Amino acid sequence: MKISKNTIDYFDGLNENIQPILPANGNCVRINHGIISGKKVTSTYIHLNTINVRVGQQIKQGHIIGTVGSTGKYPNGQPSSTGPHLHLSVYENGQHVNPYKYIKP
Ligand SMILES: [Zn+2]
Repeated sequence: MKISKNTIDYFDGLNENIQPILPANGNCVRINHGIISGKKVTSTYIHLNTINVRVGQQIKQGHIIGTVGSTGKYPNGQPSSTGPHLHLSVYENGQHVNPYKYIKP
């Protein structure tokens, strides 16, 4: 898979003392991978413990963007994560897709 760019174009979270757009996401990073096979590809990583990147930063494969955590709360105050896990989502043109083709060895 050839990736034309990897840019941090979004993040929110508790570490930045800003109001998260979706509090259930907790600390969240989105990577803009550019156009792959004619589709705009982004990926998100939520419930992070720490965020190690900045908006606009260019990253390469292997870059540590954050650490796994269990952050995030629903509006009723209940935690949205019951334990640390990597919550990965991949989008093509804004639609959820199965991420397997991007992560398979
Ligand atoms: Zn999750």
